[in-house]
Amino acid sequence: MKTSPVVNTMLLKHHLKALRLPTVSAECEKVAKQCASAGDDHLTYLLRVCELELIERERKAGVRRLKAARFPTAKTVAEFDFTAQPTISPGRVLELLKGEYISRKENILLIGTAGTGKTHLATALGIEACGQGKRVRFARVTELVTQLLEAREERQLTRTRSQLAKLDLLILDELGYVPASKVGAELLFDVISTLYERTSLIVTTNLPFEQWTEVLDNERLTGATLDRLTHRCHIIETGGESYRLRDARRRRAGSVSLKATSAATLDSEQGNEGKGHPGV
Ligand code: ADP
Ligand code: MG
Repeated sequence: MKTSPVVNTMLLKHHLKALRLPTVSAECEKVAKQCASAGDDHLTYLLRVCELELIERERKAGVRRLKAARFPTAKTVAEFDFTAQPTISPGRVLELLKGEYISRKENILLIGTAGTGKTHLATALGIEACGQGKRVRFARVTELVTQLLEAREERQLTRTRSQLAKLDLLILDELGYVPASKVGAELLFDVISTLYERTSLIVTTNLPFEQWTEVLDNERLTGATLDRLTHRCHIIETGGESYRLRDARRRRAGSVSLKATSAATLDSEQGNEGKGHPGV
């Protein structure tokens, strides 16, 4: 006996649920109509619904990767004003955006004073890597050191270390703002050693190399850390004035000249040109 189309659809939806194909389930009827009116054969129909399932899966995986990476803000290279950093070549950054440094397990070191775009560039590179299917994690150095110290106390250090080793890219932001404790520095070095030549690192720092000993509080450790970090490393130096300060000053100047312009417009509209402002 032939089953009715309604029963068939119900069965199909049941099977698709069991097979975990939610997009095929949601789209199958609509795509069936489109394929019927286009005269597409069964295999083309199957291809269309499978493509939709894959696209949706990839989109969801991308969202999950971004969430897992824990970026503090969303930044892109398109938003980066290269004229404010004339020593950084846009071509070099665009080349890094392709992500081949991750496949080659190379590191990136962003060095420069506060507010010069180190975190911005590190985040933009990390978000791009997520889009390329890479497992990324963004962490401030102090945050990571705290996490490692807690893991050590709870005897979970091996677990935390192996979770970090599964990453394709670890971004360590702000090395050097707060000196690490002796144990903290050792744990950080331990992570850097574990990841060496397995996981790429992006490190942002305001410290010139000579001052790293102050933070890691140990010359031998500093030497060994620098050795691992800078072996196969792209060094980008940011410089000049803080972009935040520059931007704030520009905005202030902009609002002053805007006020001046609107005052002048008001003046000319009122036929007051050249009469000056009483009370100004
Ligand atoms: P850093 O990490 O070097 O202290 P940030 O990356 O946090 O600096 O930059 C501070 C703020 O200024 C951020 O909002 C960032 O997006 C912005 N910024 C810095 N440099 C630039 C730039 N060249 N173009 C656009 N925005 C920038
Ligand atoms: Mg920063």
